Amino acid sequence: MKKIRKGDKVKVIAGNDRGREGDVMRVYPNIERIIVKGVGIITRHQRPTQRQREGGIIEREGTIPLSNVLLICPECDRPTRVGFTVLETGEKLRLCKQCGQSFD
Ligand SMILES: [Zn+2]
Repeated sequence: MKKIRKGDKVKVIAGNDRGREGDVMRVYPNIERIIVKGVGIITRHQRPTQRQREGGIIEREGTIPLSNVLLICPECDRPTRVGFTVLETGEKLRLCKQCGQSFD
């Protein structure tokens, strides 16, 4: 079960964008990297193509290591590590280690 999912809000705690917050746009579990809106921007020089005549510089989010972010708890709004709790029904929920609230 993934600790961080698409749509989560996270805080960057390491790297160039330390201190920034953003929404998770994509998760790559295999390489343990994620894309966060507005974080890890890379610029690429794009050659003109038939579809895009202008070319020029394209800015887009690059992946950052999953370990560089903390989830911002939707319950208490604090950055936290994520734990898990299992309900009687067997359903597994994520748990905020700051306030102890489960969510999902
Ligand atoms: Zn919390």
